[in-house]
Amino acid sequence: MYPDTLHNNLATGVLDVLWKDGERQQLSNGFLRSQCQCSICRSERLHKDAALLVTPEIRITAIQPVGAYGVQFVFSDGHQRGIFPWVFIRDLDEQIRLVSHVEIV
Ligand SMILES: [Zn+2]
Repeated sequence: MYPDTLHNNLATGVLDVLWKDGERQQLSNGFLRSQCQCSICRSERLHKDAALLVTPEIRITAIQPVGAYGVQFVFSDGHQRGIFPWVFIRDLDEQIRLVSHVEIV
């Protein structure tokens, strides 16, 4: 399973994933940060409520391909150790709605 396009909206902090089968996923950058599977984040989550680690203002500042396997996100907090396999992203279902809408005034 591979995505056709990945588009990250820095204004809203939402990653838009369009899969080759036409399925579309919208995942907030803060949510993805909270799902990082690196050893550091995994051990942090053992000690804290994962929801506490979700910060709405966090942004993905760069996306680097990891072969055909997945991507590595660089986050605005400097964290970039986590690799996100495509199959992992595909299974993510964001329950936490960080923002219902954004108003620019
Ligand atoms: Zn991590």
